[in-house]
Amino acid sequence: GPSRGNPVFQLAAEYGLLGEKELSEENQLVETGGHVGLPSVSYASSGARVSLQLVAEMATLFYGLIDQTREFLHAAETPVPSVGEYLKKEIGQHVTGWTEDEETRKLKLAVLNSFFNLECCVSGTHSMDLVALAPFGEYTVLPGLDCTFSKGYQGLTNCMMASLPEDTVVFEKAVKTIHWNGSFQEAAFPGETFPVSVECEDGDRFPVHHVIVTVPLGFLKERLDTFFDPPLPAEKAEAIRKIGFGTNNKIFLEFEEPFWEPDCQLIQLVWDDTSPLEDAAPALQDAWFRKLIGFVVLPAFASVHVLCGFIAGLESEFMETLSDEEVLLCLTQVLRRMTGNPQLPAPKSVLRSRWHSAPYTRGSYSYVAVGSTGGDLDLLAQPLPADGAGAQLQILFAGEATHRTFYSTTHGALLSGWREADRLLSLWAPQVQQPRPRL
Ligand SMILES: Cc1cc2nc3c(=O)[nH]c(=O)nc-3n(C[C@H](O)[C@H](O)[C@H](O)COP(=O)(O)OP(=O)(O)OC[C@H]3O[C@@H](n4cnc5c(N)ncnc54)[C@H](O)[C@@H]3O)c2cc1C
Repeated sequence: GPSRGNPVFQLAAEYGLLGEKELSEENQLVETGGHVGLPSVSYASSGARVSLQLVAEMATLFYGLIDQTREFLHAAETPVPSVGEYLKKEIGQHVTGWTEDEETRKLKLAVLNSFFNLECCVSGTHSMDLVALAPFGEYTVLPGLDCTFSKGYQGLTNCMMASLPEDTVVFEKAVKTIHWNGSFQEAAFPGETFPVSVECEDGDRFPVHHVIVTVPLGFLKERLDTFFDPPLPAEKAEAIRKIGFGTNNKIFLEFEEPFWEPDCQLIQLVWDDTSPLEDAAPALQDAWFRKLIGFVVLPAFASVHVLCGFIAGLESEFMETLSDEEVLLCLTQVLRRMTGNPQLPAPKSVLRSRWHSAPYTRGSYSYVAVGSTGGDLDLLAQPLPADGAGAQLQILFAGEATHRTFYSTTHGALLSGWREADRLLSLWAPQVQQPRPRL
């Protein structure tokens, strides 16, 4: 949601990183509701194109049901625990009213299956059955049409860092353990003691008064037992275990020539024999690519033509274990089959993210999983020590997983960082006015 209420958008605008179109009122006012727009073309695995009218009909049904999940916000009880089960229950009822022939009904379910795959990408989860129904509506989508920075996100962080003294930010310095509730000394500050010592993997130690932890939830889950010394309080550790953190990856395919129409923006892939109402789980090596939602057409740059595919869940994690050649070959076969063109030229290169294998990430972003609530995100955000006894605010927590309504986003991450910076400012200089309105 790039619009005035989004601090990432605001910063990017201030730094002059956005074009006229991105800054336009028209773009900012678009209410997507977090739903991806309709595809420009929808290919079925039979090699036939799916009627866009049928796709639009299924999109209306699917997103209508997604919007309906807000009814359960803060409900003491829900009919089923997860968003996935709710969607399937409702769709099951709709199906009984479908009067078309068997083939069309099957195609409708296959299209719906593609929307389920897409929603898994949005939520960064393997299955919508893992996403809790009651808190789902707490996630807040800001208005605005998605946009990209011409020099990537790093363009923004470069601008932000330009105002910092040199060497303030240290790279390639992995933290091994955060020792807290201690009494550490530093030669440069004789006589002073620090409650926290940040121990790095290379053996360096930084005694400090405060540390703001922003490592991804996936990393926290994996290193829970060794990253904090003493270990985190039980309820904080439990929140970390309960909040969901899944995988969503991008696969970029570069083509010599576009095979898509000039005005094509989104290519949907529909697997004819799939249905959200059936729990088929074919072996990952045979079927991982069926989880791919299709491709976003990236704006053509010079003579470079690139499609960006999205794939979530265990299939995405399996894809990470394959070589570039295997992914390229497999997706070439998929595209040839879907377009019905066995001669379709193979992409000339492939580039993909591997967020699950990345040791300091271990996934993409968080979601409120069945068994957890928005309260767990707030709990994760609480500084330590929890009782405020002894030295205050030793460990503070920021990062997307600590923002109750904007989790999984860059603006959630940014706001959470400001929130913790403000917390420290209030401790050290309570009389100082916060300069910037916070969301
Ligand atoms: C495919 C995909 C698409 C996305 N699309 C969007 C989008 O359109 N809009 C949007 O707003 N958001 C999007 N996001 C989400 C967004 O990128 C994240 O929510 C955001 O980057 C999270 O920021 P963060 O600071 O919490 O964590 P991160 O950006 O993950 O930063 C955490 C940092 O901690 C470092 N770290 C980890 N462990 C250690 C350690 N032990 N020592 C030192 N450093 C460590 C990591 O290397 C990393 O640099 C997308 C994410 C993915 C994967």
